[in-house]
Amino acid sequence: MKGYIKFLRYTLPYKGLAALNVFFNIFSIIFSLFSIALIFPFLGLLFGKTALVTVKPAFEFSSESLSGLLNFHLSEIIRTDGAESALIFICGLLVATIFLKNLFRYLALFFMVSLRNNVVSDLRESLFKHILVLPLSYFSEEKKGDLISRMSSDILQIEIAIMSSLEALFKEPLTMVINLALLIVISPQLTIIVFVTLPIMGLLIGRIGKMLKKYSQRGQSKFGDLVSLYEETLMGIRIIKAFNSQAFFMRRFTKENRAYTAINVASNRTSDASSPLSETLSVVVLAFILWFGGKLVLSGNGLNAEAFILFIGVFTQILPPAKSFSTAYSNMQKGLASLDRVNEVLKSEEVITEKPQAKAISGLNQRIEFKNVSFKYADEYVLKNINLVIEKGQTVALVGPSGSGKSTLTDLIPRFYDPSEGEILIDGINIKELQILPLRGTMAIVAQESILFNDTIYNNIAFGKTQMAPEQVENAAKVANAHEFIIQTDKAYQTNIGDRGNKLSGGQRQRLSIARAINTNPDILILDEATSALDTASERLVQEALNNIMQNRTTIVIAHRLSTIHKADKIVVLEKGHIVQTGNHQELIQQQGLYKQLHDMQKILEG
Ligand code: ADP
Repeated sequence: MKGYIKFLRYTLPYKGLAALNVFFNIFSIIFSLFSIALIFPFLGLLFGKTALVTVKPAFEFSSESLSGLLNFHLSEIIRTDGAESALIFICGLLVATIFLKNLFRYLALFFMVSLRNNVVSDLRESLFKHILVLPLSYFSEEKKGDLISRMSSDILQIEIAIMSSLEALFKEPLTMVINLALLIVISPQLTIIVFVTLPIMGLLIGRIGKMLKKYSQRGQSKFGDLVSLYEETLMGIRIIKAFNSQAFFMRRFTKENRAYTAINVASNRTSDASSPLSETLSVVVLAFILWFGGKLVLSGNGLNAEAFILFIGVFTQILPPAKSFSTAYSNMQKGLASLDRVNEVLKSEEVITEKPQAKAISGLNQRIEFKNVSFKYADEYVLKNINLVIEKGQTVALVGPSGSGKSTLTDLIPRFYDPSEGEILIDGINIKELQILPLRGTMAIVAQESILFNDTIYNNIAFGKTQMAPEQVENAAKVANAHEFIIQTDKAYQTNIGDRGNKLSGGQRQRLSIARAINTNPDILILDEATSALDTASERLVQEALNNIMQNRTTIVIAHRLSTIHKADKIVVLEKGHIVQTGNHQELIQQQGLYKQLHDMQKILEG
């Protein structure tokens, strides 16, 4: 329920729309009541059951005065123009009231639709915004598919279940209250029966709602598993085919799919039970009223036949809203399960935060410094007591066996993660004291796997910088050795490169990533095994591009192939999270250490 109240916060900006909805709904309910409440007495007059009203009652804003006036008017018509004209008048009045009722109902819906879609749109937006600021650690903990399902299916569920029920939850009780008030006016005795039995109905429906919420929670989480499987399968379809693993994936899918279906069947059955149950219960109540009220009429004890018929007429008006309310309530419970799942994401903390008085940074002037930095993802330290100084303009290479912590070390500089202990300083200022966006703005990263998007070459290079002149993009591409191949594609810079750039070769993708990095004109360049996934020919082109961009910049390079870093100013050798050696190539090669071992091993492999 807490989550729901939190959710209602999203409706606050649209309270004007909500007020208009309630306003028009009230009118719609009143006209609907008019159509029932007035027709019954009219019929009484028309068929001579009630005496004609000959004295015009005084005008007041009360139901008696209004119905008295209408009865008087009708009596006049019967007297002067005959019963048939009165009948036509009643029919006309009926059509007019129903028309007005529906007009107001439409207006109420008209404003509700805006509210409903705006609220869901806001929710979608805050979820997306939150995903963009959540720390990288969050994404290694959570399944991508599950997140996608929260962002798509759960939001949809909220739209269908909560937003479409939201109105019913306000409108139906309102309708019921107004009708109940009328019932009390007609016959307080009979109304007691309604008051005793309605809560019993409410209790039963509440139970169904609880069950539905449970099912829905399980169902949405299972659906998340399914989406994860879709995602993995689409990403790995080449490998699945190459390893003939279709049957294995099919079995995994069938298992998940069946589990999801089973939950859905149970959930739908429960949900379907709510409407027949409430209808049956209401008829039981109706039967009570018929029995008790009928007895009252027959014994002539304070209830006349017209009032009894009117009572039943109004009571039947309570049933549809009661039914809608119970359906809305059940749906709402289903939606609340989704809301919980969305709230879980929204609640997850932005671990990497900016201090209120954070300083701006315009670039690197002196040095980057690691002071006693240790880091762990979970329990085990991945980096331990790292002390390292990177002077402006230097190229520093990180080498070491796989898993020694090289990538982790570079991830700490843009604050993808914060050190568990120690501090990192840029020009003497702890990076935690700096504004995050300018900090990241001073650096560019080229990783082993080039991250490109399904868009044009131009947009992949300009990457969010909308005011970029075509010449600037072209210059970047030239420095990155990419211009040649770009102009040979169909539409040159406007060519779409497909999902993750799959229409390009690995080397071409990497050169686009480099062009993108050049475009940001970074002071600090981080190259994470940027050439290791390439063949020798493309490696040469990419390496050339890298050499161009490394000029006059501070570069931290993670190198797989040691031959590419002979000229580095400083080589840092990492082993199991510790720095075991530092020096330039000449110095390190003369020491009997890990660097020489790695170097000799590569020499043998490369022949
Ligand atoms: P390298 O770049 O030298 O290959 P990494 O920095 O990638 O090494 O990894 C160092 C250690 O941290 C490895 O033991 C790896 O398993 C672990 N590791 C890397 N990323 C994560 C992560 N997101 N969550 C938990 N452990 C991780």
